[in-house]
Amino acid sequence: MPEKRKLVCINCPIGCLMEVTLDGDTINSVKGYKCKRGLEYARAECTNPVRIVTSTVKVRNGCLPVVPVKTEKPIPKRMILDCMKEINRCCVKAPVKIGDIIVENLLGTGINIVATGNIPVSDKEQTAC
Ligand code: SF4
Repeated sequence: MPEKRKLVCINCPIGCLMEVTLDGDTINSVKGYKCKRGLEYARAECTNPVRIVTSTVKVRNGCLPVVPVKTEKPIPKRMILDCMKEINRCCVKAPVKIGDIIVENLLGTGINIVATGNIPVSDKEQTAC
């Protein structure tokens, strides 16, 4: 029996409400989208959902203890927990600049985790992570 799933497209502020009809892993129909991006989002969300992951990584000897980071591209949702474990294991040395690669080739995906903030070196005592 076909399954119906309701999704809200997150690609723009309009937020089209879509209805996807699935037969197992096969998509039979997608309704409710106003543009191609919505159709692509609905297809991906029902077959291989992906997300950009944002978090923070510990910084040694920086003026702040952590730097914000994100995956350069969306990763499969099923990998988010392992991605967070990898991020939590990390510690980088200041200075850190926006765009610096913090983790290269995350879990063999070919996707890097990059810094999204600048952390200069602290002029106080060194800190260990
Ligand atoms: S389907 Fe197109 S118009 Fe609708 S929310 Fe998605 S991106 Fe926006």
